[in-house]
Amino acid sequence: MDDRTFRNAMGKFATGVTVITTSVEGEPHGMTANAFMSVSLSPKLVLISIGEKARMNELIKKSGKFAVSILSEEQKEMSMIFAGQIKEKRDVDFKWMNELPVIDNALVNLTCNVHESYVAGDHTLYVGEVTDMSLADGKPLSFFEGQYKNIS
Ligand code: FAD
Ligand code: NAD
Repeated sequence: MDDRTFRNAMGKFATGVTVITTSVEGEPHGMTANAFMSVSLSPKLVLISIGEKARMNELIKKSGKFAVSILSEEQKEMSMIFAGQIKEKRDVDFKWMNELPVIDNALVNLTCNVHESYVAGDHTLYVGEVTDMSLADGKPLSFFEGQYKNIS
């Protein structure tokens, strides 16, 4: 089974798009991720999956916390910035929640403390206990077959 066929298959699972953020010594760092799921209601747990080569991995290990911003359909540029799909460095004005940077005007901002982490192949799964959240109305940015989509 080759990597491209696996990615093509996984790309058939339509998802939303998030930006995972954390901060070490007051420096914000963000990374686009679609590997995000709700895990438990009591306690309130969510899961993210971060590639071993991503800078985010070391930073979450250091900070012990992360935030998840679920992007709206107007925020494709944010996704592209934090996936490195826009090469030139952009200044992003983060909103701050519980001393974590989050993306302003996202559909949801969640802040989490790392509850557990598990190495799984070439990724690390982080289960986060949700410490705070904010919600807004709007339509989600989506990702399907390796492409950004809007749900109309
Ligand atoms: P870098 O590559 O260093 O940073 C990412 C980008 O964000 C850089 O361009 C950087 O300039 C910018 N940036 C970071 N912080 C700031 C800041 N404070 N101000 C301004 N710009 C900043 N990878 C996974 O591991 N798991 C996933 O679930 C996942 N899902 C993805 C879903 C989609 C739709 C896409 C497009 C990509 C996904 N990726 C995922 C890939 C991941 O987004 C990239 O590999 C990313 O570049 C890894 O980030 P990094 O932590 O290594 O940091
Ligand atoms: P793609 O066709 O590579 O992605 C389609 C699907 O494949 C994704 O939604 C994801 O489910 C899966 N996938 C892709 N790369 C993966 C990886 N390294 N590990 C586990 N699952 C993976 O889409 P694209 O537009 O070529 O992606 C842009 C970049 O973002 C690529 O470098 C891709 O590897 C990365 N990406 C990584 C993940 C992830 O690590 N979970 C998810 C999405 C995209």
